[in-house]
Amino acid sequence: MVIIGAGPAGLAVGACLSRAPIPFIILERHQNVAASWRRHYDRLHLHTNKGSSALPFLRFPRGYPRYPSRDQVIAYVESYARAFGLEPRFNEEVVAARRRNGRWEVRTGTTTYYAPHLVVATGLNREPVVPQWPGQNSYRRRILHSSDYRNGSDCVGARVLVVGIGNSGAEIALDLHEHGAQPTIAVRGTVNVLPRDIFGIPVAVTARIAGLLPPPVADAINAPLRRVLVGDLGHFGLPPPPYGPLTQIARTGRIPLIDVGTIALIRTGRIAVRSGIDHFVEDGVVFTDGCREVFDTVVLATGFRAGLNRFLDVDGVLDEQGNPRRDVRSLPDGLHLCGFTVVANGLLNQIGREARQIAAEIARSANGPASLISYRSDL
Ligand SMILES: Cc1cc2nc3c(=O)[nH]c(=O)nc-3n(C[C@H](O)[C@H](O)[C@H](O)COP(=O)(O)OP(=O)(O)OC[C@H]3O[C@@H](n4cnc5c(N)ncnc54)[C@H](O)[C@@H]3O)c2cc1C
Repeated sequence: MVIIGAGPAGLAVGACLSRAPIPFIILERHQNVAASWRRHYDRLHLHTNKGSSALPFLRFPRGYPRYPSRDQVIAYVESYARAFGLEPRFNEEVVAARRRNGRWEVRTGTTTYYAPHLVVATGLNREPVVPQWPGQNSYRRRILHSSDYRNGSDCVGARVLVVGIGNSGAEIALDLHEHGAQPTIAVRGTVNVLPRDIFGIPVAVTARIAGLLPPPVADAINAPLRRVLVGDLGHFGLPPPPYGPLTQIARTGRIPLIDVGTIALIRTGRIAVRSGIDHFVEDGVVFTDGCREVFDTVVLATGFRAGLNRFLDVDGVLDEQGNPRRDVRSLPDGLHLCGFTVVANGLLNQIGREARQIAAEIARSANGPASLISYRSDL
């Protein structure tokens, strides 16, 4: 079996296969495990509690807080790889994968691998989405994507526009405020907000229980509580959509905003909210409501895409962003996708479930453990 990606998903599948035991290799384009987490901003902590976020067979250490930090997640993933003896082939970027003559042919810069099963675990966040606005080239100051943002230490006193209020945008605005910057968030549409804990219970845990009901029903039951806990944020430029958080995930595959302190700063005016960007000017932007403001830096928290179409040659499985289509019911023979289904109680939890399922399917398949991987070096 070939697994592409040595993030949580690829390693979880590897751990489950090694227990079977079924031979496999993991190909990773970077030089270490958890490469995506190493690139995330410094302030990041899990938004889901550690009890809901552990990968199969290994809990987070007892001494870790309920919401581990970015560095603790990296250390956990490293220890996970060690615990299961997982040794990915680093610096091997898969550039092409296709089904040919009844098996998967997987090509990296130096080697072509052949295997009956291919597990794609390259993550939903492989490529940053970088939109373009009219006039953007005339803007003379700094624009960066959230994937290049580390912390606000070089923004003290600066006017910074964060574009987008997903979980990254909201936390980056908070980080900028904590570093003494003056953050503004540009919000184009509606937003569903949830506190990270509800009466001391992590929202990932309550979401799992609510997940037993159809999303609109669970949302209707929870609506009065959300009104009390979150209130009406429409006055602050954050109108809610006409559906609740669970319906949002089911319909759009987008996680609601799990608030870690940004909303209190918006309420007190320390983080400003504006409408979407209409166009850039030399020293700032003009918003869709006609308001013009000067900004020293613009951080695009505009999301990511999976970009699987760059290397995976399959028909009818991917949308135009290279994300797996949400309406696909069956995949080509021997193809498995791990880590692409967004759920309310956290992607790490879902990854654990999918990894176990994939390993069980591979073990059951006719090819089974007997079919070894072969490869040819192109060097
Ligand atoms: C900022 C942020 C915060 C998050 N917080 C949470 C949270 O609190 N709770 C939660 O449950 N989930 C969270 N997630 C979602 C998810 O759990 C993580 O993104 C997690 O890392 C997904 O694991 P993965 O293995 O699917 O993808 P990744 O961690 O992205 O790993 C994919 C790996 O594949 C490698 N790769 C990609 N393309 C190739 C190629 N062509 N060839 C070889 N290797 C390749 C990459 O280098 C990478 O190492 C968060 C996501 C983000 C972006």
